[in-house]
Amino acid sequence: MSSTLESMTDVSYCPRCQGFAMEESTLGQCCVCSYSYCTLCRKSFHGVNFCSISSLDITRTVLQYMYSSGQEKKNLENMYGKQLLERQQARMKEATAQQLLDQARVFLSLEPPQ
Ligand SMILES: [Zn+2]
Ligand SMILES: [Zn+2]
Repeated sequence: MSSTLESMTDVSYCPRCQGFAMEESTLGQCCVCSYSYCTLCRKSFHGVNFCSISSLDITRTVLQYMYSSGQEKKNLENMYGKQLLERQQARMKEATAQQLLDQARVFLSLEPPQ
């Protein structure tokens, strides 16, 4: 029985109350608490706007984007917008490079430049 439910892509569970929810395209609607949510990010429904990424999720999402390809990459672009992902990706690479430099500096016991 559960396998039947799983194979139906238009049935899901409410991100708020875990109740039974119906999904149509990017709009999900809970049958229990009537919460409307976005089926991509599972936050409150936001119409045609791109999903916003909280700072907590952003590292995970950008990493996922960096290591995905093809359709998966396309899906993320549709969700968050290509521009935002590429901007965050560049920012993260910069931050990572800076972090590595900092670690190397500590390792070599070098003083930060004055
Ligand atoms: Zn609900
Ligand atoms: Zn969304």
